[in-house]
Amino acid sequence: MPEVYSWQLGRTMHFPYEEHHPKRQFAFVFNINRCINCQTCTMACKSTWTFGQGQEHVWWNNVETKPFGGYPQHWDAKLLAMLEKANPGGQVWAHSSDTNKQAPFGRFDGKTIFEAAKSQHSPDGPKQALGYIPTPEEWESPNIYEEVTVGSPWKNKEFGGSVSLPEHKVWYFYLARLCNHCTYPACVAACTRQAVYKRPEDGVVLIDQSRCNGYQKCVDACPYKKAIYRPSTGTSEKCVACYPRLEGKDPLISPNGEPAETRCMTACVGKIRLQGLVEIDEDGTWKHDSTNPIYFLARERNVALPLYPQFGTEPNGFYIPPRWVPRGYLEQMFGPGVQSAIDQYCCPDRELLAVLQLFRTTQQIIFRFEIEQGPKVGEVEVTMPDGSSKTQELFNDTVRGFNSLDREVVRVTIEEPTVVRPSMHVNSI
Ligand code: SF4
Ligand code: SF4
Repeated sequence: MPEVYSWQLGRTMHFPYEEHHPKRQFAFVFNINRCINCQTCTMACKSTWTFGQGQEHVWWNNVETKPFGGYPQHWDAKLLAMLEKANPGGQVWAHSSDTNKQAPFGRFDGKTIFEAAKSQHSPDGPKQALGYIPTPEEWESPNIYEEVTVGSPWKNKEFGGSVSLPEHKVWYFYLARLCNHCTYPACVAACTRQAVYKRPEDGVVLIDQSRCNGYQKCVDACPYKKAIYRPSTGTSEKCVACYPRLEGKDPLISPNGEPAETRCMTACVGKIRLQGLVEIDEDGTWKHDSTNPIYFLARERNVALPLYPQFGTEPNGFYIPPRWVPRGYLEQMFGPGVQSAIDQYCCPDRELLAVLQLFRTTQQIIFRFEIEQGPKVGEVEVTMPDGSSKTQELFNDTVRGFNSLDREVVRVTIEEPTVVRPSMHVNSI
């Protein structure tokens, strides 16, 4: 099996195909701290792509309540248990003091789903990735365990002060998910018909419906369970990253062909989502560009982290982890970068605070941002996760976002402008 390099693992790993990288890569950042579980994203996707017969159980975008919820049910807990069984006690990270941009989290010393596949025997020959096909029951309840907490403030007195930072004793959080359009997709690796492919122009992973024979190898292999079988067509389907919007084909949003964000991103009520396209070098590295907001958050600052990087597919969805959740749980989900990400998010510096204002301000993809410095407008005392105090200085900076044509599409200030409406009636309420 060829060796490929994964910056998320900090090492090379086995993958069935040689490295080939797209010019640009579809990527997104979700700020979990802001998600309100309104499911607007879920319905925006459903009403666009998966409202047909045989797609009743197909939710390309879903929002699940962690730690108990999941769609399909227990998808991550099941795979983590399989990996542990394949490599008992070995699924660990070697923290490194000399981390660099190509290994920001140190090195993962455990087995990826590709490396652990040898331990899984299948009736139809060797498998490319450790996985399983969920049962019909596991696909039945997308909202199972919604808002079910860990611990109960009523049952047990020990949970007094259960909502004090840094870690709540009674907790849950919402995890919004879609296909990660992985750099090393398990669905591509597993398909025996070569029906699944990664587009060279934007890294979007698609299933060619005319080639798919419905063997469900992709459903089995995708560790995030984002390839889903549709019985009415006998084929598997997955998120298409709203590629007509990415291609700038919507004349209302993209009059000059500017790439636009997907439906689930633009519908987000909680303003947790920012999607982009990052430039990729021929060797697969992300081209250094600190002015691209996705690059800034995911690679420059590592404040947004990949979901289960240890699976090995190099997902291109990144999450700002929730501040209140026990770190052990977050670290098994987002890797060793959790504490640094939360520290930065709790007391963002001037630049980070400005970039965080860009979330959900325009439908067109922001390729570049600029910050214009403004006057100091205040100071706040922030309690850091370790209990120490920090003073955050606030400046009324302006952040500007530019589209693919380098035209300004958004301009936001840190202070929200106040508009006083003139009263029209003496007794107006
Ligand atoms: S998340 Fe799953 S379906 Fe999407 S590209 Fe990765 S392996 Fe394939
Ligand atoms: S639309 Fe946004 S806030 Fe609402 S559930 Fe989806 S990700 Fe969360």
